[in-house]
Amino acid sequence: MMTQEGIDRSVSQELFNESKNYFPGGVNSPVRAFKSVGGTPLFIKRGDGPYIWDEDDNKFIDFCCSWGPLILGHNDPQVFDSIVQTLKNGASFGAPTRKENELAAFILERIPFIDKLRFVSSGTEAVMSAIRLARGYSGKNKIVKFDGCYHGHVDALLVNAGSGLVTFGTSSSAGVPESFAKETLVLPLNDLEALKSCFETYADDIACVIIEPVPANNGLLLQDKSFLTELRTLCTKYNVLLIFDEVISGFRVAFGGAAELYGITPDIVTYGKIIGGGLPVGAYGAKKEIMQFVSPDGPVYQAGTLSGNPVAMAAGLAQLKRCAEDNFYVDLQAKTKAFVEKINSYCAQNNFPLELVSIGSIFWFSFNGKKRITASSQINPDMSNFNKLHNYLLNVGVYFGPSGYEVGFVSEKHREEHLNETFIKISAGLKSIFT
Ligand SMILES: *Cc1c(COP(=O)(O)O)cnc(C)c1O
Repeated sequence: MMTQEGIDRSVSQELFNESKNYFPGGVNSPVRAFKSVGGTPLFIKRGDGPYIWDEDDNKFIDFCCSWGPLILGHNDPQVFDSIVQTLKNGASFGAPTRKENELAAFILERIPFIDKLRFVSSGTEAVMSAIRLARGYSGKNKIVKFDGCYHGHVDALLVNAGSGLVTFGTSSSAGVPESFAKETLVLPLNDLEALKSCFETYADDIACVIIEPVPANNGLLLQDKSFLTELRTLCTKYNVLLIFDEVISGFRVAFGGAAELYGITPDIVTYGKIIGGGLPVGAYGAKKEIMQFVSPDGPVYQAGTLSGNPVAMAAGLAQLKRCAEDNFYVDLQAKTKAFVEKINSYCAQNNFPLELVSIGSIFWFSFNGKKRITASSQINPDMSNFNKLHNYLLNVGVYFGPSGYEVGFVSEKHREEHLNETFIKISAGLKSIFT
């Protein structure tokens, strides 16, 4: 069925053996270690357009795209030039630069519900700061999150649901004290009853609700728009701030993210990934009344040595300028939709238990044959078919993020020819798995 050896990974294997001496698990972020799919992680040497090459010089069409930031693919010429031109003047100053103004102005002109932003250096930092701001602004301590949403490795959000409909969290990572975790309430996604009963009991203590409006870190758990709309209404009614964590969906499903796509306005929004053009940038933003609580204007402390780094700002601005061009998102969505529908009709014709779920240019392999999954508890935990497909595709030159819970991304550089080639390889892979 599957070739076990497949592509030569000997250089990656050597580098991985070495890196295990330096880093826990040999990596600087856990999912990179290939633990869920098995085998040796590829060490990547370079990327160009839709392609990456590993240290053994194997070439892949890349659908991981650095986990989302690279909406223009690898090494886009304009992003590259912008980085290099800016870098010529120095890498970092720790003082204000014009580039921060330019990127902020570009974003704020196009996203009307935020008046001010603060740049940070990662999605995690954006979320952590947004939570602190919500608590500082509201004077309340508890926060609500949803089971199946990921918000970075923020202590208060590394929390699992207990049993029952509305539950106080239990920490999902060693090192997070239970006393922190119990300030977080965990609700099921797409469940209005749970949300209402939570607000009826605890609203006076709740600073904010945080949600990925397009949950894309545990499969792709598309929410009913009516759920998100009602969430907004209830937050307003109970005087609880609504945070949209748009680190993955911001500048991805629309320039203004899910908020623009669904026409729903959060009180605070967090960005990351695409906003930095492949360099480390995050941001959080809100109306003036809320942002004036952030230091040095207000009492909520938040700072960063490399925040607003000029080179990263330049990369982000070059990328977002392209995203803001006419039809950018229309084209990206159209080719993603055609690609996904082709795979889905192939699976339907052959009775394969797979349905790709997608929104905008994000897609996910849902290997349990269900049409629509809106809660993490509905995901089939058996990822063996995904793992087989992942392994098959690596051997024929297609790279996906190494976990069945992760989504794939189509970039501007994935043209019809790349998507067709990928379709042919995916269909052959599925055939070898299921027949
Ligand atoms: C990736 C992600 C984060 C964390 O961002 P990092 O830059 O990895 O710290 C937070 N929230 C969401 C929704 C994400 O997708």
